[in-house]
Amino acid sequence: MVVGDFAIELDTVVIGAGPGGYVAAIRAAQLGQKVAVIEREYIGGVCLNVGCIPSKALIAAGHHYQEALDSQMFGVNTEGVTLDFAKTQDWKDNGVVKKLTTGVSFLLKKNKVEVITGSAFFVDDHTLRVINGDSAQTYSFNNAIIATGSRPIEIKGFKFGGRILDSTGGLALKEVPKKFVIIGGGVIGAELGGAYANLGAEVTILEGSPQILPTFEKDMVKLVEDDFKKKGITVITKAMAKEAIDNGDSVTVKYEVDGKEQSVVADYVMVTVGRRPNTDDMGLEQAGVEIGERGLIPVDAQGRTNVKNIYAIGDIVPGAALAHKASYEAKIAAEAISGKKVAVDYKAMPAVAFTDPELATVGMTIAEAKEAGLNAKSYKFPLSGNGRAISLGKTEGFVRLVTTVEDNVIVGAQVAGVGASDMISELSLAVESGMNAEDIALTIHPHPSLGEIVMDTAELALGLPIHI
Ligand SMILES: Cc1cc2nc3c(=O)[nH]c(=O)nc-3n(C[C@H](O)[C@H](O)[C@H](O)COP(=O)(O)OP(=O)(O)OC[C@H]3O[C@@H](n4cnc5c(N)ncnc54)[C@H](O)[C@@H]3O)c2cc1C
Repeated sequence: MVVGDFAIELDTVVIGAGPGGYVAAIRAAQLGQKVAVIEREYIGGVCLNVGCIPSKALIAAGHHYQEALDSQMFGVNTEGVTLDFAKTQDWKDNGVVKKLTTGVSFLLKKNKVEVITGSAFFVDDHTLRVINGDSAQTYSFNNAIIATGSRPIEIKGFKFGGRILDSTGGLALKEVPKKFVIIGGGVIGAELGGAYANLGAEVTILEGSPQILPTFEKDMVKLVEDDFKKKGITVITKAMAKEAIDNGDSVTVKYEVDGKEQSVVADYVMVTVGRRPNTDDMGLEQAGVEIGERGLIPVDAQGRTNVKNIYAIGDIVPGAALAHKASYEAKIAAEAISGKKVAVDYKAMPAVAFTDPELATVGMTIAEAKEAGLNAKSYKFPLSGNGRAISLGKTEGFVRLVTTVEDNVIVGAQVAGVGASDMISELSLAVESGMNAEDIALTIHPHPSLGEIVMDTAELALGLPIHI
């Protein structure tokens, strides 16, 4: 502390206002704590500003464009369909992102959470220094929740700038590239590759491993690969990205497959090979907070670090880097600080890829169930057996239940197809509550709906399928 800089006392302080931080702040305030949240860049974090929300907006725009171009099957003839991408981007930024971030600011205010703008650095385990441009202020705190999130990984030979983009740059393009190269076929790369292909780009995905979307099972990924083929997306697996050369009006991307060097020229290249936790450069060592493997902070079941009054949540702790995981951990940490007896339970953590078709998974796959020593079976019901899917003209995909053989308890589920991101919630509830197939089969599902497929799959697991 410098002379004359008196520390302002805070009760509970949250660092970062992403889906981890803002949720933790609100929940702690709801439980009677005096809360301040420190944010250096944007309220709503990566998810609302440059992640989940803008990516889903571009994906939606791509779907509308494709439907306008091609709905002849429904007897809809269109002519002269054009895309005004500047308008698309304006709608994404002002019609969607701004609306939501303004909403989060309103919620913080409503819950009397103080918002402090600046970058937080730990001075010790009870003191923070917040730097905002030329000014700095010291704060003392009783409890802290660190929710500083993550940033894109930059790889050798691909220095971000100009035509070499990270996902943030990829979301903010002013034009739809004629040719777009994406390094990394994980969820972010596959989602944005699909979106830009729908918007008219010729997309090439270079993936280092043998399969894109490695966190999903092969039969699910196959559906996305088939769709990529239809869209004209080129997927090159086992491709090692070497270098990108910005030519000013284009970019040359060099890569290696089977030891042979290849190159492709595109308008832009986007690197989505993973994200790095923001745990460096904020004085964690001064607070005594231990940083573990890959820069992640080890925490206990309440989100507490090795320092008892400092918690960590979201992308900076181990586990899947997902917004709903961050928000879930946020509530647990805020409640733990408020003296509640709570603990995380990740048994039913869903994960979704917003590709065409959507992929969603929760709980165990059949392989994981067997590995866990369960006597498990899986049952798969196709979307083509569902009236609603047929009337939507979207019959690719399936619902799969993983159940125990003895008592049909649902330990996992996977959904591929239209509406998978919504359908997975019923299955998450089933896994979370330990329901069995009979519980689902006896639940009346509205007709005709995609949700009925869940009921049909449960009946299949009971050996009494009506629609297959
Ligand atoms: C393109 C893309 C698409 C995605 N799509 C999805 C999706 O569909 N579904 C999903 O579940 N997840 C998605 N994610 C992942 C999701 O965005 C993250 O898991 C989520 O944002 C993590 O939340 P968080 O609160 O841990 O951190 P973040 O959202 O990263 O927020 C951290 C905040 O802390 C601030 N900060 C960092 N350091 C400091 C400091 N020292 N002082 C003050 N402030 C600081 C940052 O400015 C930031 O606002 C996507 C990510 C990307 C990049």
